[in-house]
Amino acid sequence: MKMLAGNWKMNTTPQEGLALLDALVNGLTPERIGEVHLVVAPPFTHLWASVQRLWDFPEISVAAQNCHEQASGAYTGEVSLPMLKDLDVDAVLLGHSERRQYFGETDRQIASKLRAALNAEISPILCVGETLEERKSGREWEVVQHQLQVALADVSADEAHNVVVAYEPVWAIGTGEVASPEQAQEMHARIRTWLRERFDADTASIMALLYGGSVKPDNAAALFGQKDINGGLIGGASLKADDFLALLDALRSA
Ligand code: PEP
Repeated sequence: MKMLAGNWKMNTTPQEGLALLDALVNGLTPERIGEVHLVVAPPFTHLWASVQRLWDFPEISVAAQNCHEQASGAYTGEVSLPMLKDLDVDAVLLGHSERRQYFGETDRQIASKLRAALNAEISPILCVGETLEERKSGREWEVVQHQLQVALADVSADEAHNVVVAYEPVWAIGTGEVASPEQAQEMHARIRTWLRERFDADTASIMALLYGGSVKPDNAAALFGQKDINGGLIGGASLKADDFLALLDALRSA
């Protein structure tokens, strides 16, 4: 499955977000979408309006950028999976490096959220990736493998079909520094092999593996052309409809 997911992060007011969605859908035709599954992840404040705006576009899913692992309770400021489900939200980003770095999210917490998302029938988009320091010391696979091991410890092969893995080297997120297609492919191939061993060959080939980190219209074709890269998780370039549509074109024709 090819997938292009836009992570808007803490950007756009609700009005600006709806204008961005309008610009996006105005540029779409069934031919342009092709076989690509599109996902947008606006801030919590515009999820419901986004779901409503996209009623007529079943090929575009709406994702939350985070969630709490508990269904309800005294967790001031948090949003639960049943709340998201009730809004018809389809997916949730989990373990984004900004959540890990700035909000101290641990692998175990991410695993609990992933378990809760599967229980709520909301598809997790699990982000993994190493820091620059970890890559420089040659530990990138050790780090990514550990993140995968903990997050997916409690997941069956059937459930894994609904999990998307996004490889996002931390040093490439929002920095303009992009992994080379070879670096990205090498990590994706390792993740695919690991998934095959952890689950089975069918599951590993069905699961979408996305690359994320400074994907732009001018570097997308080379990344999306790699064998084990099924699409992208896009930050900055998802905030401009023209850029996101250009990435869609690159992925569709990859
Ligand atoms: C991201 O936030 O997941 C991301 C990949 O950001 P950017 O495309 O801006 O590097």
